[in-house]
Amino acid sequence: MTAPRARHVIIVGGGASGVLLAHQLLRQSADDVRVSLIEQGPDIGRGIAYHTGNPDHLLNVRVANMSALPDQPDHFWHWLISRGADATLCPDPYCFVPRRIFGDYIASLLEQ
Ligand SMILES: Cc1cc2nc3c(=O)[nH]c(=O)nc-3n(C[C@H](O)[C@H](O)[C@H](O)COP(=O)(O)OP(=O)(O)OC[C@H]3O[C@@H](n4cnc5c(N)ncnc54)[C@H](O)[C@@H]3O)c2cc1C
Repeated sequence: MTAPRARHVIIVGGGASGVLLAHQLLRQSADDVRVSLIEQGPDIGRGIAYHTGNPDHLLNVRVANMSALPDQPDHFWHWLISRGADATLCPDPYCFVPRRIFGDYIASLLEQ
């Protein structure tokens, strides 16, 4: 019997879509999957939308609707709390946070 061949997925583009795909592949697949994420910029998870450093550039969707994980709709909100977000930044899951913070959140998905 031959051993199953390892699968290697190469994702070009490390914006939100690329990171979310990589995260789901690593989360749902067996141990024989390798994922390479190729990004031309200095950061992953940001892309055009979330690389801005201007704190006035807010998400146009509420925190409650921006979870990266469909099966955990409160994931982004819990991540914000775990990072020490206070009431001035976001008092409840219905606020709008700076897009840069969402980029931090997306990038954090691959830290583990
Ligand atoms: C100004 C702005 C604000 C937005 N605000 C919101 C919001 O508040 N809420 C919301 O839900 N959506 C928002 N969006 C939509 C947002 O673009 C998408 O939600 C999402 O970020 C798109 O991600 P993406 O990975 O598909 O594309 P991108 O973010 O464009 O990422 C593509 C990545 O691929 C890389 N890349 C491209 N070509 C190559 C190559 N040949 N080799 C290597 N790397 C490459 C790029 O450097 C980039 O990092 C906004 C969009 C914009 C432009």
